[in-house]
Amino acid sequence: MTQAAAALARIRLEALGCERCPLYRNATQTVFGEGPVPASVMLVGEQPGDREDIEGHPFVGPAGRVLDKALAAAGFDRTDVYVTNAVKHFKNEPRGKRRLHKRLTAGEIDVCKVWLESEIKLVRPKAIVALGASAARALLGRPAGIEALRGKTLAFGEAQSLFVTIHPSLLLRMPDRASREEGFERFVQDLARVVSAIRSSETRKASRRVTLRNSAQPAGFSVR
Ligand code: SF4
Repeated sequence: MTQAAAALARIRLEALGCERCPLYRNATQTVFGEGPVPASVMLVGEQPGDREDIEGHPFVGPAGRVLDKALAAAGFDRTDVYVTNAVKHFKNEPRGKRRLHKRLTAGEIDVCKVWLESEIKLVRPKAIVALGASAARALLGRPAGIEALRGKTLAFGEAQSLFVTIHPSLLLRMPDRASREEGFERFVQDLARVVSAIRSSETRKASRRVTLRNSAQPAGFSVR
């Protein structure tokens, strides 16, 4: 295990006991991020849903299945993706036997951001994808209109890129099949942009390495 992975494991343990805001009271457990450390890409959702809260893993419910399908269609290698949420507890309101999902406030997003910041610092993704308005709020530090930011590559941190798209649960709430299919296609296109950005940054780095190696060769050396 690398030092970063060990540090993240310690932070995950710490987050299990987090009581910084009241959201832990109605939830089953903290749902921390999962994936390789380091990872090329970090996907940031909103908050755990009912299934995630019960199982303790991010994106394992219906929205997670849509995400998996879209990632595969966009050409992602899931083994290189770290998946997390802006807020680590499920905000819900018990209603009989059901628990209704409740919208997060800006204050709840801000207070939970400490865990997301640690994840970004230790996972060191080249690209971060905000899935939905709450994730964009957490990452940008201000309210953000998703449609205005979709398709753009934003600078983030020292060397990272930030992409903003919808949360996959939005597709599940679309009223008819045609809009769901169209929405899914657009979602895949957004994710495919991330894949091509990562690939072109890797290609640029590789060609820089070749150039540097070549310029370091002794005079008379020929490169085939
Ligand atoms: S939602 Fe975040 S800040 Fe609030 S108790 Fe859970 S982990 Fe802590």
